[in-house]
Amino acid sequence: MKYYSTNQQADRVSLRDAVVKGLASDKGLFMPEAIQTLPASFFEKISTLSFTEIAYVVADAFFGEDIPADTLKQIVEDTLSFDTPVVKVTDNIYSLELYHGPTLAFKDVGGRFMARILGYFIQQEGQTDVNVLVATSGDTGSAVANGFLGVKGIQVFVLYPKGKVSPIQECQFTTLGQNITALEVEGTFDDCQALVKQVFMDEELNAHLNLTSANSINVARFLPQAFYYFYAYAQLMRMGKSNNLVVCVPSGNFGNITAGLIGKRMGLPIKRFIAANNQNDIFHQYLLSGVYQPRPSVSTIANAMDVGDPSNFARILDLYNHKHEAIKADISSTTYSDETIAATVKDVYETHAYLLDPHGACGYQALKEGLQPGEVGLFLETAHPAKFLETVEGIIGDSVVVPEKLQVFMKGTKQTVMLPNSFTEFKRYLLAL
Ligand SMILES: *Cc1c(COP(=O)(O)O)cnc(C)c1O
Repeated sequence: MKYYSTNQQADRVSLRDAVVKGLASDKGLFMPEAIQTLPASFFEKISTLSFTEIAYVVADAFFGEDIPADTLKQIVEDTLSFDTPVVKVTDNIYSLELYHGPTLAFKDVGGRFMARILGYFIQQEGQTDVNVLVATSGDTGSAVANGFLGVKGIQVFVLYPKGKVSPIQECQFTTLGQNITALEVEGTFDDCQALVKQVFMDEELNAHLNLTSANSINVARFLPQAFYYFYAYAQLMRMGKSNNLVVCVPSGNFGNITAGLIGKRMGLPIKRFIAANNQNDIFHQYLLSGVYQPRPSVSTIANAMDVGDPSNFARILDLYNHKHEAIKADISSTTYSDETIAATVKDVYETHAYLLDPHGACGYQALKEGLQPGEVGLFLETAHPAKFLETVEGIIGDSVVVPEKLQVFMKGTKQTVMLPNSFTEFKRYLLAL
């Protein structure tokens, strides 16, 4: 299958090139040339299939032409070696817990899948010196770093805004060593993202180094996120709760929700989506006004959504042929202050004995406010609440059990390279590698 650029000014490329390049030469994002509608027979039996069986059908639709079936099956199985259960919170609101992987957040799925796809191509080509760059506002860095940890021939550089990610998030990518380097940037997440984008536009760097990006712009990270929408649907079907399904996605860079929209395009019976924003409500404002106006991000307690210029917005526009009305027909949106997020975490903990993280809280609240009679709501619980320990404990006034996996990271030693918010400095660093 070929991949085209959302800017339509670049040649179509192979999966290999889309994964290795990350971004198209015209600065657009890659999109798969075809989005297959899956057969009715698949949806009829979906509730009898396992997560990996479901995910393989979806993966095959995108990657089957380019990756041998046995290899793809193995990649899917290796990626999804943990569960993503649907848990009932209220009579009509369910939580899709995407936090049972190694770094306790949904980005593990894309991070692990991409590491294996890239590893496959590199091995095929006998390459030994590929550099993966990734900017993170919190969870991307850990998911990508842990996905790639120990993968031969690949060096990973994680750029993150100094002092703007939680200590727990930070230790998950600064303590790993081996082929992982953490770069602590004097700036915001948007600055980190801009630095990475500039690297890919720089001819000298690209001539000198084998560079690739692992941000959610990468198709090998972005598309596998569709897997769990199908699996969640299957689980709800088993519970007799799959009709009139509304899916709410706490959104920052909009990769996760876009993968869900692609699932819907493949025939997954999701009635509509809600994008839940924190105070960084650029998408919400776009839906209201039809004008997309990026602005600098502000810090919130749902910090993985502190994004002022969501990269995957270009994919949403492309998917709906730039039609504002068509986008509004499938997606509505909400925006929440830190106060509302905190009140939601507290209320759901006290009323329903369910502990939300600040991102999932936006998702839950949007469904609570927005569900119509007869609808069932599913929100994506994108990270384990213990990843935001001080915040969550402060809100509920109770202690939170830290999963063993997280405690191991917290005991490690932090190792970083300091970087000013300067492309010149970053370029000098990379050229000296
Ligand atoms: C990354 C992240 C989000 C936002 O996902 P996008 O795909 O960037 O919209 C939400 N919650 C958590 C916990 C995250 O790590």
